[in-house]
Amino acid sequence: MVPVIALVGRPNVGKSTLFNRLTKTRDAIVAEYAGLTRDRQYGEASWQGRTYIAIDTGGLTGDEEGIDAKMAEQSLLAIEEADVVLFIVDSRDGLTPPDLMIAEHLRKRNKQALLIANKVDTLDPDIARAEFSPLGLGDAIPIAAAHGRGIQAMLEATLGRFPRDNAEEEAEPEVVAEGQEPKRIPGPSEKDGIKIAIIGRPNVGKSTLVNRMLGEERVIVYDQAGTTRDSIYIPFVRNDDEKYTLIDTAGVRKRGKIFEAVEKFSVVKTLQAIQDANVVIFVMDAREGVVEHDLNLLGFVLETGRALVIALNKWDGMEPSQRDYVKVELERRLLFANFADIHFISALHGTGVGHLYRSVQEAFKSAVTRWPTHRLTQILEDAVQEHQPPLVNGRRIKLRYAHLGGANPPLVVIHGNQVEAVPKSYTRYLENTYRRVLKLVGTPIRIEYKGSA
Ligand code: GDP
Ligand code: GDP
Repeated sequence: MVPVIALVGRPNVGKSTLFNRLTKTRDAIVAEYAGLTRDRQYGEASWQGRTYIAIDTGGLTGDEEGIDAKMAEQSLLAIEEADVVLFIVDSRDGLTPPDLMIAEHLRKRNKQALLIANKVDTLDPDIARAEFSPLGLGDAIPIAAAHGRGIQAMLEATLGRFPRDNAEEEAEPEVVAEGQEPKRIPGPSEKDGIKIAIIGRPNVGKSTLVNRMLGEERVIVYDQAGTTRDSIYIPFVRNDDEKYTLIDTAGVRKRGKIFEAVEKFSVVKTLQAIQDANVVIFVMDAREGVVEHDLNLLGFVLETGRALVIALNKWDGMEPSQRDYVKVELERRLLFANFADIHFISALHGTGVGHLYRSVQEAFKSAVTRWPTHRLTQILEDAVQEHQPPLVNGRRIKLRYAHLGGANPPLVVIHGNQVEAVPKSYTRYLENTYRRVLKLVGTPIRIEYKGSA
């Protein structure tokens, strides 16, 4: 499971500066969902082969009864969701009373917390360490978020103990000779069948869809213990031999547990489920059309490269004119996800739900097929013949052969000369060619270049 790191501390200590540095915040997901309101920002990042989720919070002032109550609540929820809390203090301000209160809270919650002294620009790090030792959280790790100093050591202390992504399948980086097959391609484990995450904003119908999908199927286990932030994993078999595991972020099968009331929709849960899935069924509410938060979440799905099937739910009882409007909207706003099948369904009545499986199967197959090196190289050669890469400094870029470097999403590694000069438009041309020739459906594809010595 992808670790979650929360940044907490008083306002102005530099949390956002650090967050932006960690996530490069291109697609940070701002939590503005009903009930979550402002002040929590989520971003995905990666350090030395470890993907993690960072949560930025508005800040704790110690005035939790007053106007800052809402902000405090958000910070406290982020602390609950986190595996590790980075408690940021400001070494220029020195130790303040709110810092003591925050430390006390972290101790009470028994959270793994690291003390981070920010803004140690020119300050002696030893002075920062001594200054904050009364917090009782061990030695502060000195950083200067604004200048990028100390970040590596901080990440080592934070993430070093977590396994790398695909750790069990990882090997020495292997050199693949021309024309040879790579021995091992990291990919999803298939013992539990296809892992499907049901993702979407609150109230789009995820719970209803999960119940509908499981309604007639043979569910093997469904009552797993879990904490607030865990999705529920439900393995089941369809048509006697199709194995799936549904990742249920809505938590329908956990009815009656008290924490359900606290927060039904959790961004962390959603992001982790996407990371852990082979295929995402992305649910939208046809009656509301495509809204900003849909695009936000969908952007994250694309970023992870997971296979994707889109379900426009609540299609029942809609006027024909309304339906036409939604279809036009989809075409206009979901262009960036146009590799995915779209289904118009009614989770409530069951209409169209069965057809989702065919798309899930196809998307999964596209995402995990092990294409042989000679096939990928042949496609490359044909593509280059059809349309040469440009000249750089009077020399033509040479792309010599290609092999598969990963699955779900498929990663095509292309070897050649001057590969750092390949223009984006040419990469897009190759992507489209691979997509067309390999008949990829429902999955993004990635291309990486390796220069030859
Ligand atoms: P937040 O409220 O905790 O999210 O704090 P911000 O990230 O908004 O930062 C508050 C202020 O501290 C901003 O003016 C930042 O530029 C500044 N700041 C952040 N990191 C550093 C640092 O390493 N050194 C210095 N001198 N200033 C910093
Ligand atoms: P979730 O928050 O995404 O899990 O959404 P729910 O499954 O709890 O559904 C939210 C509301 O939408 C409930 O009142 C459902 O009955 C309703 N709903 C779900 N699917 C459909 C559908 O296909 N058609 C209609 N008309 N209502 C639906």
